[in-house]
Amino acid sequence: MGYGWGGAVVADTRQQQKSLMASAFATPFYRRHWVTQPEEWSELPILRDSDLKAARRDFPENVFGGRLTVPERNLLYIWPPSGALKPDISIYMGITDDERTHWVDVITRQWTVLGLGAEDVVQVLSWSNDPFVAVLTTAVGGASAYGSPAVDELLGILTVRLELVPSEARRTLATAELLHPAALFADSAHVEAMRQLLGTKTLASLGYRSVILRSVEWVEAKTRKQWEEAWQIPVRRLLEIPYALGYGLDCERNPQGVHFARDHYVIEVTDDNGHLVTEGTNGYFTITPLFLRSHPIIRYQTAITGYLEHEACDCLDDGVLFIPRPEGRQ
Ligand SMILES: [Zn+2]
Repeated sequence: MGYGWGGAVVADTRQQQKSLMASAFATPFYRRHWVTQPEEWSELPILRDSDLKAARRDFPENVFGGRLTVPERNLLYIWPPSGALKPDISIYMGITDDERTHWVDVITRQWTVLGLGAEDVVQVLSWSNDPFVAVLTTAVGGASAYGSPAVDELLGILTVRLELVPSEARRTLATAELLHPAALFADSAHVEAMRQLLGTKTLASLGYRSVILRSVEWVEAKTRKQWEEAWQIPVRRLLEIPYALGYGLDCERNPQGVHFARDHYVIEVTDDNGHLVTEGTNGYFTITPLFLRSHPIIRYQTAITGYLEHEACDCLDDGVLFIPRPEGRQ
């Protein structure tokens, strides 16, 4: 494959961090959250779900909780990450066409690493208004909705979108029999439902080369191995951080870890007080999407625990790997 976000392309993100800090500090939310304009990135207070939810109450004039840096009309797509059907929607996300271009780049690299390319068909299980799909195919918004190409156009792939519920497995199977997809992005419940419908046939017999689990919670290496044995197909994993437009791909060489493209994201591990921890020490996965300028998410601390390992591998990125460790602190 030989394509990664390799050592030669390690971006110096410092300048991007500085300009992101400056534009964020122009917003009412960050003026309140940071109090003063910090000089150093590591001094910035971390951002938690509770801060984002409180901001919606504190800044009721817009659904972005006082974080919007551009007029809302510049956003081409707005969605509530907590799911369209939940009544307590307090956080909205959106993207500009430029932000979408960066996100398309992240996913295009991942699909290339996964060996997906020209003339492949890829099934993507998604839910209504799933922003992930908006970067994969222009068909969602209509060909004129976006100014920039989608992942499937760049790679010459046909993307088929299906509903992310196990009861739709029959439709996934029927589409697979018709189109022989190379890969399926789904959750484990859906794949399992499909496999039961298959009876004695295997996923590989339908033409699948791999299954990629979409998840906001990390699927551990041993669980992945169990699925691979049960489904008789290579299984890869995405780790999704919806509030930060964060999409990480598991490491091919070190199945314990996950890679995030470090020219697009600042990846840190912080403690309960929001301070950086040293390499190899457990803490909370903290992410900043550098490309998200319209309503910045800076140092977003997730509930996912784990540690960073440098020089963990050299297959992607610059060898920096986040190793989720769900059982808590070391
Ligand atoms: Zn790796």
